[in-house]
Amino acid sequence: MPFGRPGGHVINLLGLDAAGLAALFANLGEKPFRGKQVSHWVHQRLVGDVEAMTDLSRALRAKLAAVAAVRGPVVVSDTTAADGTRKWLLDVGAGNAVEMVYIPEDDRGTLCISSQAGCALDCAFCSTGKQGFSRNLTTAEIVGQLWHANRALLADGISAPWVDQGRAPITNVVLMGMGEPLANYDSVVSALGTFLDDNAYGLSRRRVTLSTSGLVPAIDRLREACPVALAISLHAGNDPLRDRLVPINRKYPLAQLLAACLRYLDRAPRDFVTFEYVMLDGVNDTTDHAHELAALVRDIPCKFNLIPWNPFPGAAFRTSPRARILAFQKVLMDRGFVTTVRKTRGDDIDAACGQLAGRVQDRTKRHIRMRVAAAATTAH
Ligand code: SAH
Ligand code: SF4
Repeated sequence: MPFGRPGGHVINLLGLDAAGLAALFANLGEKPFRGKQVSHWVHQRLVGDVEAMTDLSRALRAKLAAVAAVRGPVVVSDTTAADGTRKWLLDVGAGNAVEMVYIPEDDRGTLCISSQAGCALDCAFCSTGKQGFSRNLTTAEIVGQLWHANRALLADGISAPWVDQGRAPITNVVLMGMGEPLANYDSVVSALGTFLDDNAYGLSRRRVTLSTSGLVPAIDRLREACPVALAISLHAGNDPLRDRLVPINRKYPLAQLLAACLRYLDRAPRDFVTFEYVMLDGVNDTTDHAHELAALVRDIPCKFNLIPWNPFPGAAFRTSPRARILAFQKVLMDRGFVTTVRKTRGDDIDAACGQLAGRVQDRTKRHIRMRVAAAATTAH
C-alpha cells in the first residue's frame, strides 16, 4: 500500500475498508481500534477533515494528516427535479464525468451510484455503452458518492422520518449508474464492505443492490465475498436476441447465467434475483416474448422490473408503447412473477436510473470535457 510522505501520495480515507484502516494504523504503529474510530468520523459523522476527529490526540491527528486525508468527489453540477430526484455530475479527471442520482421515497432514500467512467460491454440500447470505456472508479470514488450524498442531503436539511431518528439520509444503494460493477470487481467489493460495515454505513445487504449484465465468474465470486441483493439485466428470453442486445451473452449465455443465479441464491436462500428487462418496441416486448421468459426462469426465485427504454440520440430503438408494457407485465404476473414497471423519475433532469448519461443529447465525452473545464474555470 502506498503511504504518504511529504510531497508524496496521500491516502484517501474514503477508499479504505475496515481491513485497510486496520493496516493503515498498524503501519503507523497504532492500535487497530483507531481504524474503527476513524471510520465513525468519516462515514457516520461524515467529517471531511482529520483535524475534526477530536477523540484522537493532537499528535495522532498530525501523524494521520501527514499521510491521509478525506477527499470527496468534485461536483460539476447538482440538479434537483420537480419530483425531488437529485442528480450530481462528478468530475473524475481527464475529462471524464460520472453521475449519481438520489431518489426519495416515503419509506427510503435510494442512491444510484456509478462504478466506472463509461463501460466496455457495449449493450445495444445503452448510452453509457455507446460512450466506450474510460476507466474503473477507485474504491474512494465509489464510496465517495455515498459519503457526499449523505453530507449534501443533511447539509440541506432533508426531512425524513429515519433522519429524524438519527439515521443517514441514504438507506438504500443501487449500483445501477454508469458502468458494469462486476468488471471493476475489487474496487466494488471493497466499497460494498464499507457500505455494510457497522462501523461505517451499516446498510444491510438487502438494502444494497448490484446490477450486472451477467459476468458469470464474477457473480460466483461475489456470492462468496459479499452476497448483496442481485439484479440481472436480462432483456431477452433467448440467446440469439440476448446476443444482440447484451453482447456479453455470447461469452456467458443464458443457461450459464441462470445457473449462476441459482448458485447465488443457494448462498442467500431467503433472497430472490431481480431481472431487469428494458422494453424495446418491436424487439423484445410481445406477449410471446413474455411467455418465453416466464418459461425460462420458472425455477428461479425472482421478480421482474420492466424498464421503459429511455431514448438517446442516434439509438436505433423506440420505447414500447405503454399498452404493450402492461400486456407484457400481465403475462408475467399471471404466471406468478411479481412484476413492476419502473417509474421514470427525475424526468426533467434526465436522471432516469439505468440510463445515466442517457438522453445524452450531445453528452459525448467531448461535451463532458467542456463542462468539466467550464466548471473548473468557474470554481477558481
Ligand atoms: N452495467 C450494469 C449496471 C448499470 S445499467 C447493468 O447493465 O446491469 C443499469 C440498468 O439500466 C441495466 O438494466 C441496463 O440494461 C439499463 N439501461 C441501460 N440503458 C438504458 C436505457 N437507455 N433505458 C433504460 N434502461 C437502460
Ligand atoms: Fe455497460 Fe450496463 Fe450499459 Fe451494458 S447496460 S453497456 S453493461 S452500463
